[in-house]
Amino acid sequence: MTDTLFSKIINREIPADIVYEDDLCLAFRDIAPEAPVHILLIPKQPIVKVSDATEADQSLLGHLLLRAGDIAREQGYGDAFRLVVNNGAEAGQTVFHLHIHILAGREFSWPAG
Ligand code: AMP
Repeated sequence: MTDTLFSKIINREIPADIVYEDDLCLAFRDIAPEAPVHILLIPKQPIVKVSDATEADQSLLGHLLLRAGDIAREQGYGDAFRLVVNNGAEAGQTVFHLHIHILAGREFSWPAG
């Protein structure tokens, strides 16, 4: 996998508003927020997208979902949040390092656009 913007954020080569970090993942505020809370949660291990993950990533993917819930609840909107993962360019992915969008603080319509 080639270096992306997000690996530069992990390596502190470019700045970000980091809200959570542990050995496996990093969360920071999206630079162009689509909601009052818009945080990106990424694995430190560079996986391009969900469909590139393998059985070996099972525990890491579970960790990401659990931390996403924790981070979302800490933002002050209780359990009202949305998690989004764009998989592939045709589904809207623009940065090719797997990330979970954590959105909260407004109403969300369905289906997503
Ligand atoms: P996606 O379109 O699902 O790949 O999401 C990529 C997200 O990264 C978008 O919501 C962008 O606004 C966000 N983004 C791009 N550059 C940065 C940056 N330097 N810091 C924080 N978020 C960024």
